[in-house]
Amino acid sequence: MSEPADKPAFDTLAIRAGTMTSNFQEHSEALFLTSSFTYKTAAEAARKFANEEPGYLYSRFTNPTVSMFQDRLAALEGAEDCVATATGMAAIASTVLGLLKSGDHLIASRSVFGTVVPLFDQIARKFGIDTTWVTGADLDQWRAAVRPNTRMLFCESPSNPLGEVCDIAALAEISRKLGAILVVDNCLLTPALQRPLEFGADLVIHSATKYLDGQGRVLAGAVCGAKTLVEPVYGFVRTAGPALSPFNAWICLKGMETLRLRMEAHSRQALALAEWLAGQPNVRAVHYPGLPGHPQHALAMQQAPMQGAVVSFEVEGGRDGAWRVIDAVKMISITANLGDTRTTITHPATTTHARITQAERDASGVADGLVRVAVGLEDLQDICADLSAGLRGA
Ligand SMILES: *Cc1c(COP(=O)(O)O)cnc(C)c1O
Repeated sequence: MSEPADKPAFDTLAIRAGTMTSNFQEHSEALFLTSSFTYKTAAEAARKFANEEPGYLYSRFTNPTVSMFQDRLAALEGAEDCVATATGMAAIASTVLGLLKSGDHLIASRSVFGTVVPLFDQIARKFGIDTTWVTGADLDQWRAAVRPNTRMLFCESPSNPLGEVCDIAALAEISRKLGAILVVDNCLLTPALQRPLEFGADLVIHSATKYLDGQGRVLAGAVCGAKTLVEPVYGFVRTAGPALSPFNAWICLKGMETLRLRMEAHSRQALALAEWLAGQPNVRAVHYPGLPGHPQHALAMQQAPMQGAVVSFEVEGGRDGAWRVIDAVKMISITANLGDTRTTITHPATTTHARITQAERDASGVADGLVRVAVGLEDLQDICADLSAGLRGA
């Protein structure tokens, strides 16, 4: 204990950062299920509403349990500030609507969470914010898409479901020259494996619904970065209202305590499953950035020591072949969600990516024969056995 505790290590922060204790001196973080807070006098209320005195007013603005979640996640991402949101999509929408305005231009990697496409192309466009979609791994496409009014670059790395990797440091360089904001969705790796701010990203987005909870219980989201950028996003959340419920914040707070252990175990299982899949009959291709044959393997390993739980593979027979593999599972859960101790399986082309057009799916490589597995923490032998029935018959 000779070192001063000014920069505790990741596991210590995951367990203790952000903890606030009430007068009861509870050991575990308290769940403050209250919509509002009271004042001893009218004058105290006035001071707090005027921001002359710190304190809690209303849980759409702030709540102690939500504050603890924000502070803990900020510590893990190495961010100055964090604002929590009701869902991951609320985090993305609040970032775009809180920081951009009509006439601004956005460049985004095509291989993003499916719902981001209608958010940018339909909703943001309605407010005069135009998006150009590029292949995330192709830096020339990012450069070619730049316009004088480009204000934001948005990517997901690695992406879901194909594990496409973006060069965060190179994008940060492009973004900095433009005076734009680089936003990275870090949902699939979490700060336990990848901290985009260290590579020069300006904001990190989370769907905490996935690995921060880690057990498939709640929806939650967050935006982390410098105070000057998080403040306008917070302003949007506080006013428009997609705030995080204290209950969901509390679930995620407790989930984060085991984050590194879980992410390492997920990653070890996923790599072993990807290697196993590559040798199976009827498998045309396996997409996992942790495999040496992945096109951005070297870059992926520079940005994160392990590559998370999401593995996708293409089987013979297009949609019917993929559906046969999925329908043959007995243990694995058929669900579009991921980020769970339970292994999940889905057919991206007809679920997570069904709302985009065939042309958009072709452009982003989501083939009809593609199956996505988010590897859980059950015994790997049991996971492989469950998949092998469908693969032999595919
Ligand atoms: C699930 C997900 C989202 C959206 O999060 P919700 O909590 O479902 O709104 C965004 N990005 C990625 C990478 C996701 O997997």
